[in-house]
Amino acid sequence: MTTMMTERSKMILPDSAANGDCEVSANAAAAGNAAPMELRENKLLFEKGSPGLCGAALTESDVPKVRRESAIPRELLVDAPPALPELGELDVVRHYKSLAHKVFSIDENFYPLGSCTMKYNPRINERVAFMPGFAAIHPYQDEADLQGILELLYRLRTYLAEIAGLPEVTLQPAAGAHGELTALMIINAYHRSRGQNRHKVLAPDSAHGTNPASCTICGRDALSIKSKSNGRVDLDDLLAKVDEDTAALMITNPNTTGVFDETIADIAEIVHAKGAQLYLDGANMNAILGKTRPGDFGVDCMHYNTHKTFSTPHGGGGPGAGPVAVAEHLRPFLPVPQVVKRNDGSFGWDSDRPQSIGKVRSFFGQVGVLVRAYTYIRSLGCDGLRDVAEKAVLNANYLAARLKHKYPMPFPPPYAHEFITVPDFHDSGVTELDLAKRLIDYGIHPPTMSWPIHHCLMIEPTETESLATLDQFVEVMLTIADEVDRDPNLVKNAPHTMPVKRLDEVAASRKPNVRWKP
Ligand SMILES: *Cc1c(COP(=O)(O)O)cnc(C)c1O
Repeated sequence: MTTMMTERSKMILPDSAANGDCEVSANAAAAGNAAPMELRENKLLFEKGSPGLCGAALTESDVPKVRRESAIPRELLVDAPPALPELGELDVVRHYKSLAHKVFSIDENFYPLGSCTMKYNPRINERVAFMPGFAAIHPYQDEADLQGILELLYRLRTYLAEIAGLPEVTLQPAAGAHGELTALMIINAYHRSRGQNRHKVLAPDSAHGTNPASCTICGRDALSIKSKSNGRVDLDDLLAKVDEDTAALMITNPNTTGVFDETIADIAEIVHAKGAQLYLDGANMNAILGKTRPGDFGVDCMHYNTHKTFSTPHGGGGPGAGPVAVAEHLRPFLPVPQVVKRNDGSFGWDSDRPQSIGKVRSFFGQVGVLVRAYTYIRSLGCDGLRDVAEKAVLNANYLAARLKHKYPMPFPPPYAHEFITVPDFHDSGVTELDLAKRLIDYGIHPPTMSWPIHHCLMIEPTETESLATLDQFVEVMLTIADEVDRDPNLVKNAPHTMPVKRLDEVAASRKPNVRWKP
């Protein structure tokens, strides 16, 4: 078992795997079989343990006992206690450790998942987020006792404003998508303050699915703008669709095809000429940190995905934060309360904004994620952030240049921090899904697939990967291209090293069967 996990957790170089019918699989199976049965059983936590086992010894409570019926309304009480498993501490630790080893993670695997910016999350972030002064406080404590976290939040909002080139930021939204919704609400409030109720929100056809979803939740009509064959916005289509009923254009720049749209200033002019607002989906800020600022290229309003750009472990619905930056004319509509620095130098909350859209998140926002973003920004500094963007872009373009002879790329370089390939496996019948699954055998997380265009892979290496890792990835990709020529079934039947092969992805998500039958 241990051997198998170590094998899995590294990127497996082609020469150890590509001989004949996949040695990786044989090695892994042999290692797995050698492990003692007892440890290999994959029971659910609910099937483990025995009555009476307990991981914690609690002292006798010094709070007087009351009958539960007198403390909790009858209709809220259950007849029997929940059937929770009874386990020792070590059982629980082993259970979760073994589950942790079964997943792909950035700590163990290269993770070129386009658009998601799965970069390494520096450990210093965790260290700071777990400091008791941040981790063990409560939002209802006296403001005087919360000065540290308030100062951190205040500073973070000023840094994010500076990076955006926009005057003010709210830290409330809990994710990128929530930031989009908050921004659209701000934009609606702005138009309403001018006696207008604009219904249309435009977004290029390469937009992330959350863009039209946010429009719909905000009660607006989402309308798609065509992209040109070079991945840029089709200005003619934009001109034809933008009008006095358009509230905003939502744009991602660099966009999800991996290109920076240099016509952005023209786009801003076209949108503003109709009184509409230019909104930037800032998920790709990683590529432009310290190089250019959205406020400088005409953006009125944007969100950050701090968990992507400023590193917090995310994915699988993990935590995020989606701060929103706005231009001067949108400031009155920002959510309240806003964290402020007072004239006496203390920090506190300001709710005095009569035109505010109100509150979009309880308490102080996703504080743990915001502390990590602050730590990340402070530990890198201005030059460090610029370096992030330069290396992210360099790494993506390096991979693209080394792969292009085998992997066609529909959009011309240069790329930003990610790029798209539509693999052409001729008439082998191999698809992008097969390639993604085969990468798993080599210890690499599959890239984003089939979006924003059909049959593509979107590859984002991030700045945190070394040249050696990038070279290994290239070698693996070229090896798989060879495998397709030599033995397409090897690729079509991948993965060969996983406990499960191809799942019905919808059913696996909606009706998960978490039992592993080796
Ligand atoms: C990730 C992403 C989003 C959504 O952000 P969440 O934080 O996951 O809600 C929106 N747009 C783009 C381009 C993204 O990559």
